[in-house]
Amino acid sequence: MHGKIKKERRGHMKMITAFKKGFLLGFILLWTSLSLAFAGNEQCLVSFKPEPSSLFQGGIAKIEFKVANDCLLKRISFGQKTVPFKQDEKTKEFVALVGVGLKEKEKKKPITFYFLKNGTHFKVSKDIPIKKKQYKAEYLKVKKKMVSFSKNTLKRVLDDQKALREVCSKIRPVIYWQGGFIWPIKSKILSPFGLRRYFNGQPRSPHSGIDLRAKENTPIKSPNHGLVVLVRNCYLSGNTVVIDHGGGLYTLYAHLSKVKVKQGQMVDKGQIIGFSGSTGRITGPHLHWGVSLLGQRVDPAMLMQLLGDDTV
Ligand SMILES: [Zn+2]
Repeated sequence: MHGKIKKERRGHMKMITAFKKGFLLGFILLWTSLSLAFAGNEQCLVSFKPEPSSLFQGGIAKIEFKVANDCLLKRISFGQKTVPFKQDEKTKEFVALVGVGLKEKEKKKPITFYFLKNGTHFKVSKDIPIKKKQYKAEYLKVKKKMVSFSKNTLKRVLDDQKALREVCSKIRPVIYWQGGFIWPIKSKILSPFGLRRYFNGQPRSPHSGIDLRAKENTPIKSPNHGLVVLVRNCYLSGNTVVIDHGGGLYTLYAHLSKVKVKQGQMVDKGQIIGFSGSTGRITGPHLHWGVSLLGQRVDPAMLMQLLGDDTV
């Protein structure tokens, strides 16, 4: 009897030792693969250069980065949004644009890179700090009918806004823009982006673009390649054109006297899309130029500062 019990005990001890060894081996394997995963993780993103290194409300940043040869970049996200990217064929460097709106409340947002390496998925996250920006206030006197709308006018204004929002909120993976952006018109900025406007003492939405000095009928050029996604006569912005440059980047032209393009038409960099004018709610002829990135209005002057190229 005793001998049998001893044998059983020895057997149990062996099992426990084997189990412990197995557990330890499993733990070591898991730990090694995890550390390898993290190492592979960081190694996938060879370089990361955001310019500027922090965003401000209504600002944009150009993110340039390189990816290791054995890593496949599957996706990038910024906050909750998927951000399209493109790669330079010669330098192999990637570029993506990110931006935040005037009402952005977060103090930082992560940009996350999703990779596939040797059949395993990895992700690398980097935080982009977001700073507050105090924009100037402007007080304007306008005709009463331009600030207090009738029921029908208000419906038209809201319909216009809805149409614009719907068009600009789409983020297409294709990127049409190439190289530097050119100014739609070489002129002076009369009114900057983000101005907190008061019409007859009443607060209105902040200025969603920049106003460029333009006499009636000055030709307006497309700043880069793109697809015309909207041609509309709006109550406030008059004859309006929106161009999709791909990757969630849109440019908008308002108060045009004449439009030379049609919805659904591709345009080239430098192509004349229409002529400046004074259609819509306006005190004098000028070009209102807006830029929307990932569904948020951002500063066109900043786009030009980052991606502008006067030599093209
Ligand atoms: Zn304007």
